[in-house]
Amino acid sequence: MIGEGVLLGIEELRVSYGAVEALKGVSLSVRAGEIAAIVGANGAGKSTLLRTISGLIRPVAGRITFGGTRIDGSVPEAIVDAGICHAPEGRRIFANLTVRENLELGAYRRADRFGADLERVLNLFPRLRERLHQRGGTLSGGEQQMLAIGRALMGQPQLLLLDEPSLGLAPKLVLQIFEIVREINKQGTTVLLVEQNARLALETARSAFVLEVGKLVLSGPAADLAKDDRVKKAYLGE
Ligand code: ATP
Repeated sequence: MIGEGVLLGIEELRVSYGAVEALKGVSLSVRAGEIAAIVGANGAGKSTLLRTISGLIRPVAGRITFGGTRIDGSVPEAIVDAGICHAPEGRRIFANLTVRENLELGAYRRADRFGADLERVLNLFPRLRERLHQRGGTLSGGEQQMLAIGRALMGQPQLLLLDEPSLGLAPKLVLQIFEIVREINKQGTTVLLVEQNARLALETARSAFVLEVGKLVLSGPAADLAKDDRVKKAYLGE
């Protein structure tokens, strides 16, 4: 059963790529207003989980509910309309479009004016404001990550899915990005992030889930998981 305050509910989710079962019956819930983190090694199924929530992959079995409404089986556009936006791993920005054009595309499902959201994104990421007319492909890795997150925010999500925001970035920039993720959350957006940097993920999130080869092996308050011996040994190098 999905409890009170739950924004995203996942029950017994199974996803396969041909013969490879990437998610083997995963159940978890994300509460409205929180930052939740999924940690796990390469190949654990973290990206698969986000891609399934976004409607990019169809599950073989299980249920996904958002705000109490079932969304598994919906097309990606309908899931964006419902209030879930995804900043994918590898950023996937449009290299030949400018920063501004990339951001505008994030609002493509919306008929209303998005000027206020553009302002909000540029306030969160002043670096993007300075580079508004620069092509996406010429941005640094960190700037591209900012653009990917900014573009997802332009869809006015209630739930923001972030896939490996720290990937390939210098430590200082990683801290900066996570600081902005906290700010986005403070401004009212629920965040579900996937992250290999378990230490940072557990410091940032309120609740956390550990995924191992397609199965959820631990879940709970992030602060408790950070003290768990298994987590310390396997993910925090202690
Ligand atoms: P990483 O941190 O390396 O991105 P991950 O936890 O996000 O890992 P996934 O990318 O979800 O893991 O992959 C889970 C499993 O599914 C892996 O065994 C992977 O090889 C497999 N897989 C992922 N995408 C595909 C695909 N398109 N076709 C076949 N197998 C896939």
